Amino acid sequence: MNAQEILKKLVSFPVLGGQSNLSILNWIKEYIEGFGIETHLVPNSEGTKASLHCRIGPAVDGGVILSGHMDVVPVEGQEWATDPFTLTDGGDEKLYGRGSCDMKGFLACCLTVLPKITKATLKKPIYFAFSYDEEIGCLGAPDLIDHINATYKEKPKYAIIGEPSLMQPIIGQKGICVMETKVNGSAGHSSRIRQEVSAIHESARLIMWLENKMNALVEAGRLDDRFSPPHSSLHIGQINAGIAPNVIADKSIFKWDIRVIPSDDTLSIIKEFDTYCRKRELELRSIFPGFEIINEQHHPPVPPLDTKEEDEVVEFVRSISPIHDVGTVAYAAEAGQFSNGGFQSIICGPGSIAQAHRANEFIAKEQLEKGVVMIEKLVEKLSE
Ligand SMILES: [Zn+2]
Repeated sequence: MNAQEILKKLVSFPVLGGQSNLSILNWIKEYIEGFGIETHLVPNSEGTKASLHCRIGPAVDGGVILSGHMDVVPVEGQEWATDPFTLTDGGDEKLYGRGSCDMKGFLACCLTVLPKITKATLKKPIYFAFSYDEEIGCLGAPDLIDHINATYKEKPKYAIIGEPSLMQPIIGQKGICVMETKVNGSAGHSSRIRQEVSAIHESARLIMWLENKMNALVEAGRLDDRFSPPHSSLHIGQINAGIAPNVIADKSIFKWDIRVIPSDDTLSIIKEFDTYCRKRELELRSIFPGFEIINEQHHPPVPPLDTKEEDEVVEFVRSISPIHDVGTVAYAAEAGQFSNGGFQSIICGPGSIAQAHRANEFIAKEQLEKGVVMIEKLVEKLSE
């Protein structure tokens, strides 16, 4: 099968982040095993999802992991000109479909080159590491990485995360954590503003604390010019509270995210906020004893990627990718997790992030071809 045929198959599995991925997983597993390669599955606790990894080549140190995720984002509310789960040749040198770019295109490149990888006389191994639930907080990758480290006695050296980067090597990525804050105040007539605790007024105070914290980080000079904006950002994107102008709101929920530059620490920002929340609780419980602020993380923080230009992986990936200038990205991906797992990591994959997550997502055929060529070069390089 060529890359386009494989991509068509992969796109036909409408597996969203959070859903069971066994359909696409089993197809990929059988495809890989068809070439005599042993695969390893890393299931979730319910057995409804699993990541997959495998090694092709000798069990020696210094191999390269090719990483991708099998899940995609929803299509609801988007106006698609074609069926999103049928890869469609637009006649404009582009292939349309959900996940065509983010990031089944890269998975298709890996699987396309697999027959060549198995026939090559590799001196160092290549690993595939395909995860689930990347799109809802990079949930599958930590177990997958632990399992890789536990399964193989040898130590892989590099990880290439094939997120869409138009084949540019990406060495930096912000970390992210999505948060939810629930404020429990007391309801009453709006004239009782001194006797009740308004969840809305308190939420406003907490939200301003978060914005002030962001500004304080900037004023403290915590900057990294590789990113835009060059500082960690705290942003509140959703708030639900209140029923009428003359009723004090007893409940408020707001959702926010933290996107950290590599030198800042997500958990310490959350901890500082939490300390402020506990202080407000103590102060306001004299008015309303049930006053409570609950902070929840939607997922464990996804760590940033902070590969240095002088790290060996940069020269290595430059030697196989069509673009030499390295860059950074604002989106979150599994690269920081692989880096923390002990592998020098870089994002480099076909397609543009500008097409990801949108209606009429596509990958240019030329990009898909470049992805294949990069992996073919990788095979040559590891056979030298
Ligand atoms: Zn992705």
